[in-house]
Amino acid sequence: MGLDEIKDVAKDFADKAVAKTGEVVEVSKLRLELSKQQGRLRALYQKLGSSVYSMKEKDYEDLDLIDNLCQDITENLKLQKKLQGQIAALKKMAVCPVCGSRNPMDSVYCNQCGSRLKKEFEQPPETGSSSEESSSEE
Ligand SMILES: [Zn+2]
Repeated sequence: MGLDEIKDVAKDFADKAVAKTGEVVEVSKLRLELSKQQGRLRALYQKLGSSVYSMKEKDYEDLDLIDNLCQDITENLKLQKKLQGQIAALKKMAVCPVCGSRNPMDSVYCNQCGSRLKKEFEQPPETGSSSEESSSEE
């Protein structure tokens, strides 16, 4: 008796562990993080620029400050590259329109639910357009 119940619970748990639309959320999360980092990079560049300018104006040098800012910028660029790589890796998968699970690119049908897969890679690549449906719903 008890054993069957345990099995049911285990199965239920496993079903829940396989998130249905997790992948889609993951990509938009990564994109959000990426745009945050892009904003941060702009701020860093601006700070670097204004720091250099005021050093020139006031005739002093704070190389440590410049070093630190450059380091931050390098870190930021690395992070952005990593995020872009992660987004690209996710996008390379064929995403099931029905259950949202990711399948290998060459799959025709979803290995989870058997629906026909849309091929994301057939869409024209995004060329970093800044006007990416920026419908601010806040
Ligand atoms: Zn599916």
